[in-house]
Amino acid sequence: MAIVVSGVLCPICNKPIDVGKDFFATTAFLEANDPLYRFSDAAMHWECYLTWNQRSNFASCYAEVIEKEETSNPFWHRLLLSDELFVRYGEIGEVDILLLKLAAHVRVKAHNVAVWLQNPSSESRYIQAELNRLREQLQKINELDILGSPLARQKDRVEAKKKKFRL
Ligand SMILES: [Zn+2]
Repeated sequence: MAIVVSGVLCPICNKPIDVGKDFFATTAFLEANDPLYRFSDAAMHWECYLTWNQRSNFASCYAEVIEKEETSNPFWHRLLLSDELFVRYGEIGEVDILLLKLAAHVRVKAHNVAVWLQNPSSESRYIQAELNRLREQLQKINELDILGSPLARQKDRVEAKKKKFRL
């Protein structure tokens, strides 16, 4: 996430961000020559971000970068990729759910996923609204054997990745 200090300006409306409130931010994921560069690694008002005419373009660029990164990261493993969700298992025992249209992540402890799916929730009301919209899609995660066989199936790939990174 971007390091955000109070008073930093939202690149969409050029008004200050109140860090005490819920705001949207991504990591620096775009190259300096990208036309949307100044929006990556920047804090934005959720209201500005949600109504921004570049949001879907921005979110697809973000999804592309995260998907690419996953293939070379030995600690994160793809569980599900749909048009709305990119779900990864992290060896820290967490499941990362990227809401693709929003470029926002939700992290859930792997052992708690089934319980969380009964009532998918987020502290951010904006992410919450997206979770509500995707309620049905999210249930696909229930069909994944997060702690079991998918990881066993991925073992070879994990080993290959580790070899690549000489861990
Ligand atoms: Zn704004």
